[in-house]
Amino acid sequence: MLSVALAVLTAWAAACAAAPDMATNGPTAATTGPSASLSPATPDVGSREPSAAPVSGDPGPALTPAPTLVDTGTAIVAGSVERSSLELSATYRVDAAITVRTGVLDVATEIVATNDSGEAIDRLELNTIAARLGGIAVTSATVDGVDVHVTVADQTLRVPLGGILPAGASTTVRIEYRATLAPDLAGSDWMFSRAGGTIALYRWIPWISQALPFDRPNHGDPFVTPSSPRVEVELLVDEPLVLAAPAASVAEVPAGPGRAWSFTVTDVRDVSVVLAPDFRVTEGELDGLPIRVYTRPGGLSAARVMSQAVHAVAGESAQLGMAYPAGVLSVVQTQGGYGLESPGLIWIPRDVDALNLAYLVHHETAHQWFYGLVGNDQQGQPFADEAAADLLARTVLGTLRDSRCPVDVLDKAITAYSERCYYEVIYVQGGQVLDQIRRLMGNERFWGALAVYLQANRHGLAGTTTLLDVLRGATSADLGPILRARFPHLYH
Ligand SMILES: [Zn+2]
Repeated sequence: MLSVALAVLTAWAAACAAAPDMATNGPTAATTGPSASLSPATPDVGSREPSAAPVSGDPGPALTPAPTLVDTGTAIVAGSVERSSLELSATYRVDAAITVRTGVLDVATEIVATNDSGEAIDRLELNTIAARLGGIAVTSATVDGVDVHVTVADQTLRVPLGGILPAGASTTVRIEYRATLAPDLAGSDWMFSRAGGTIALYRWIPWISQALPFDRPNHGDPFVTPSSPRVEVELLVDEPLVLAAPAASVAEVPAGPGRAWSFTVTDVRDVSVVLAPDFRVTEGELDGLPIRVYTRPGGLSAARVMSQAVHAVAGESAQLGMAYPAGVLSVVQTQGGYGLESPGLIWIPRDVDALNLAYLVHHETAHQWFYGLVGNDQQGQPFADEAAADLLARTVLGTLRDSRCPVDVLDKAITAYSERCYYEVIYVQGGQVLDQIRRLMGNERFWGALAVYLQANRHGLAGTTTLLDVLRGATSADLGPILRARFPHLYH
């Protein structure tokens, strides 16, 4: 994510953040909530109408271990190890419904997770910002059909497995929650909001993640999200909205006064969606890649956005010598907040000026490689995705510039940087340091090494040390002085 204001104009963010539009969302004729089932083909998830009843606090006798559980088909065995892991291969089936008039969001998620960590685990830690921004209520949770009691801590849903999931074994977790979208764009609310005629959902699917605090003094991304090989989404709304999704192919089915969609995405570490009643969809294409621009009346120029998106994909993939990694690029006008990346779909605030529009589209598109294809601890090591994405964007645009903050080290967590200087240090100084390394290495070696880093870690989680070590290993130039000065916690 990034603040466009910090990119060029300092006044922009304040103006944008100060304009929470409380307008309601379009027509409100529908009075009944959406049903949870979009399709009769998915009765196991679709029929799970969220109830208002809280999850029982009693883990219950059903969790009593041993042979009876084996008979039910579960791989869970008795015991505890006080351990979770990010090294789980997990697919997600998500069935969601939004009541537009109230902003109530019901989400039923089925996660099939295989423990690839090599050690036993006894809980899942799922991230969703609905826990911090949406007043989440977990209404149901089961592990292999057995009720479990989920606890909510900060932005993490802690799901006990009711025993141990051995290394190599799989489990099916079903979890349902109800939350309410924020009615404004203030603070971080814009990431999970129903405001100004737009519904915006970021990190709404409970996702195997590292348990981290959501709060930070800036706009940094407080997430660590492993990639999933497959995510199936069904989404229902009770008013005739237009959906911006991160999938090349989206099926729309009749749903009374509203709309229902289903789509599948593969190898993604998040799925964000944005909806509005009056989105105008502009279709483009580059070498077979669909590029879709979603704008609203009075907002961004679709032609300008499309032009920048095509330029970004073409320029950045050529610079890296690597194809654009997602199946589509959807560029979506949002009502406020900041530019924001998710796999296959990026958010661009409507108030951005022409100069920052070019920059923002290029920066968020660059995240399709640095974040989308290769992830990292965004909270603890923001350099790995933000500095690399910013360098790529600014190189293609020819807009590298000096930082407006004092020189600072680049290997701290997002929480260690001020709101004023987070962008100027991690993005701008980070990009400058990478560019300094590029000059020492030479263009060919430098960009070739970045491509090696991306290929070697595709769909995985890497980080600052991995990135810098790949660069160091690709040159005979001495990067030691730079690394020790700017990354003192990692190189001494
Ligand atoms: Zn960014």
